[in-house]
Amino acid sequence: MKTTEAEIVPEYISSKEKRKKKHLRVNTQMLIGFEIFTVIIIVILWVFQIGFLDTFYENIKKDEVRSTAQEIVNNIQSDDLDSIVLGLFVDRQINIHISDELGNPVVYVKTINEMLYGYDQANSTLQDYSRFDLIERFDNTVLAGGSIMTEFTVRRERTLREIRVIDYSVTVHFADESGNQQNRLIFLETEITPVDATVDTLQIQLMWLTGIMIVLGIALAFIIAKRISKPIVAMNTNAKKLAQGNYSVHFDEEGSREVTELAQTMNYAAKELSKVEALRSELIANVSHDLRTPLTMIKGYSEVMRDLPGENSPENLQVVIDETARLADLVNDMLDLSRLESGAAPLDIERFNLTEEIREILKRYDKLADFTFTFDAPEEVYIEADRLKISQVVYNLVSNAVNYIGEDKRIILRQIMLGDKVRIEVIDHGQGIPADKLRDIWDRYYKVDKEHKRAQVGTGLGLSIVKNILDMHGGTYGVSSRENVGSTFWFELKTSEIKGERNE
Ligand code: ADP
Repeated sequence: MKTTEAEIVPEYISSKEKRKKKHLRVNTQMLIGFEIFTVIIIVILWVFQIGFLDTFYENIKKDEVRSTAQEIVNNIQSDDLDSIVLGLFVDRQINIHISDELGNPVVYVKTINEMLYGYDQANSTLQDYSRFDLIERFDNTVLAGGSIMTEFTVRRERTLREIRVIDYSVTVHFADESGNQQNRLIFLETEITPVDATVDTLQIQLMWLTGIMIVLGIALAFIIAKRISKPIVAMNTNAKKLAQGNYSVHFDEEGSREVTELAQTMNYAAKELSKVEALRSELIANVSHDLRTPLTMIKGYSEVMRDLPGENSPENLQVVIDETARLADLVNDMLDLSRLESGAAPLDIERFNLTEEIREILKRYDKLADFTFTFDAPEEVYIEADRLKISQVVYNLVSNAVNYIGEDKRIILRQIMLGDKVRIEVIDHGQGIPADKLRDIWDRYYKVDKEHKRAQVGTGLGLSIVKNILDMHGGTYGVSSRENVGSTFWFELKTSEIKGERNE
């Protein structure tokens, strides 16, 4: 058999297309939800109204018949029994016949039809019972425990219609004023057929109701879905812009609570993204500047030394070496931070003398003859931490203090015991940091002074490294600073239990 071309053409649906097929729109979901709800309600209504209507109606009728019988029993010796019975018949459309145990009528209420059309048209079965029937019914009722209810269908002569009928008989026994023992058979009968007509009316009503509810359901679903989906659609458009790098988009914070919260989150994300973007371009500017300056110096000095033999002096060579060191520092800081942040630098914990370690670090600054370093350490403190990384923390804080030192050229370090913790403070009397910048300085690449001063080279990475290392150790840290008065950077770490001897 030859296959047609259409059959062998391979089909490809992109994954995006597939996704679209799986997820229904809010409108559709709402519509389905509402229609299911409507259908359930209508089915319940139909079942109750039409399915159970007969049973409901029948039970109500049965209760009515019972309570009517009870009322007659209560008034059986009353002088007004006749009028009471007539009242009940008129009110409730129940045919009533009261006889004694021998079938002799005591009260018999004619039905309306009987009144109008005569005995034959009574619309009641009661008048068909002979005395013997009544005696038999009396005996059966007594045997059954005092009451009998039966249900049957009869054919009315006048209308020739089949009618459902309930009859109910009760027997009473009492002694009259003269002390004679008396028995009564209270015999009631009522029709339950009118239900059919009611069902027809209800059916038509329900048809209308079903139609109205389905239309109303569709309309409501559309209105509500529009209200819900409108802000989401708008947000989606903005989110796409955000994804394309437009960080100035604003998400309208209106609609339901969830949507408002989502809009707030999106606005926050947009703000943070724009900050990161600003930092990124600033970083590129800073880093390229920081890299280019030493490189220019190295290139310039080297060329001078190559071309002019007289310039090949140790001083000029020192400049080249210093600038190379500066470059190395910058690259090292960047590598350190990225390793810390990516978690690629696990802690190498050991127990060591922190006091001694700080003293060692300060020795490196001995060459800076015109600076005074004071280290106020009343005792030797041991900690369990990563020695190299904690040294880097101290080193970064001290070199910041050196970079931003005040005119007194003094840097003070203090070691304070606080219970099971040790606090190290690095104090300078320099330019200080504005209060609103105290939080930002711990961010990557953040510099208070955006202008590049050769004297204050910095990558803006030092404090970020400090923060990362101390966070890894579960330590606390902070800074207090006043402009033109000075800054105190501090950190606290848990001490190791076996303490060293006192430093005499
Ligand atoms: P940098 O390498 O630029 O010093 P840091 O992360 O160490 O980067 O510091 C961030 C910024 O915090 C610095 O640019 C500086 O503005 C400010 N700063 C840090 N330490 C001090 C200090 N001791 N005195 C004044 N400003 C400081």
